[in-house]
Amino acid sequence: PVSRPREKPVRLPPDVSQEDFETAVKELRGSIGDENVEVNDKDLVDGWYIEHPNTHDAFHIADQEELVSSATVYPGSTEEVQATVRWANKFKIPLYPISIGRNLGYGGAAPRVPGGVVVDLGRRMHKILSIDAENASCVVEPGVTYFGLYEEIQNRKLPLWIDTPDLGGGSVLGNAIDRGVGYTPYGDHFANHCGMELVLPNGEVLRTGMGAMPGPDGSDNPTWQSFQHAFGPSIDGIFSQSNFGIVTKMGFHLMPETDHQSYCFTFPHDDDFEQIVDLIRPLAQKRILGNIPQLRHVIQEFNVTGKRKADFHDGTGPMTRDEIRAAASKMPLGDCSWVFYGTQYGPPESIAAQLEVIKNEFAKIQGSRFFLPSDVPKDHYLHDRSLVCSGVPVLRELEWLNWVPNGAHLFFSPIAPTRGKDARTVHDVVVAAHKRHGFDLFPTLCVAGREIHYITNIIYDRAQPEMKARAVRLMREMIDECAAKGFGEYRTHLLFADQVASTYNWNNSALMRFNETIKDVLDPNGILAPGRNGIWPKRFKNKGWEL
Ligand code: ADP
Repeated sequence: PVSRPREKPVRLPPDVSQEDFETAVKELRGSIGDENVEVNDKDLVDGWYIEHPNTHDAFHIADQEELVSSATVYPGSTEEVQATVRWANKFKIPLYPISIGRNLGYGGAAPRVPGGVVVDLGRRMHKILSIDAENASCVVEPGVTYFGLYEEIQNRKLPLWIDTPDLGGGSVLGNAIDRGVGYTPYGDHFANHCGMELVLPNGEVLRTGMGAMPGPDGSDNPTWQSFQHAFGPSIDGIFSQSNFGIVTKMGFHLMPETDHQSYCFTFPHDDDFEQIVDLIRPLAQKRILGNIPQLRHVIQEFNVTGKRKADFHDGTGPMTRDEIRAAASKMPLGDCSWVFYGTQYGPPESIAAQLEVIKNEFAKIQGSRFFLPSDVPKDHYLHDRSLVCSGVPVLRELEWLNWVPNGAHLFFSPIAPTRGKDARTVHDVVVAAHKRHGFDLFPTLCVAGREIHYITNIIYDRAQPEMKARAVRLMREMIDECAAKGFGEYRTHLLFADQVASTYNWNNSALMRFNETIKDVLDPNGILAPGRNGIWPKRFKNKGWEL
């Protein structure tokens, strides 16, 4: 599947003839350069993380040729983004903006409407526009990756950290717009943004926050990266997980560097997690825990070693509990059920004092054990956690993909309150659904003081349509069953966006009706990412596009 020859011709944008498409492409080439518009008529190559496609979803869960673009555009400036948007309005061609497009597990670079034109902002707009060491902030263009920002800060020898997600190849801006998370105290990426510049669907440029006030003599406003809200309604939020604008610049707060200590605890029983969650809650609310810790099931120790499922298990069904136990007992952390990965920050004395409190709490669970990085071999995952949790981008989590041949993954990520019994409710739904559909279960709970991002990674073989269909059924059932109990997803793959959006339907879907009202005012031609996060402009609404 990874390099299957293309079967279908160029997928044209909806309601656009071949002739009009050719005219349109010619016109766009004339305005932003021949080399900056590529028609998607070649074989589709899934590539890999570093050489990922911008033509379709590399981790296709539908057919590889289902969610494809008609073309890719590479604007080089805000003005060229404006030109692209005006062009799209003229020809009624849907655009799908990406920054880097490594949003793997959530749809990658694929447009929600097949035949849409992908606006790949990362290729030419990848400048770090400023790093202000005193204010501890930066302004970046869409193509700046975590690796890129990290390297620049190292080159300039600035005492600043970035905050990276598990994989460092994504866009700082793109991840924040999609409300992704990382693991230092600045891990809520959208909460730590400060100011945006964006192009509205009608081609107008808008600056949010203090950027709405001009600086002296045409400069950027001096407070743009200092204060998020400015005057009047705070509108930044409506540009995250939406299709209301194309963000061309974004400011971020950076964390001043500090000492840190990563560590992990193991817990012996599968049923311990309720108590673990209840112990985390006060520690997190009091800010004794330094970051958002991860609580991972021990099965995840295996798939960050690059090992294959076939190394532990014969046949296609999920690993049995006994197999997991036997394999875990040969691993550095030994036989256990849950592994808690945490990090503390501050001066060494403060870290030592915090760790005492945390150890005393977790000692309440019989059989818990504590490990420092010095207690485990050099290649153990704890060392990578230590890097991620101190703002150093890594690629360790790619090892997941070895689990099955042609490995791809899909995230299921509901939010639950930080309470053992609520975590249990979600967990029970997820366990039963995985069992029904024969998938290994890989839960990671990112536990904050009041909410848990309960993230499971469904790993499937892209070459097996039957397995993909099963993964889709698994997702759909978990979404519905969790929603029936009041738990909803914080983010999802674009194929499930309609279903997830429809679960947020309080008061006759007042939220979606509000979003649609904004959408239709800002984007009357429905050109910007129709269907993203379930928001359909009137041109597409109720015409059979919803899934
Ligand atoms: P990353 O490579 O960082 O994982 P992407 O660049 O794929 O992330 O961005 C994730 C999603 O966020 C995209 O699919 C797109 O819907 C949205 N997005 C990304 N960049 C922008 C942008 N500059 N303006 C508007 N939406 C964006």
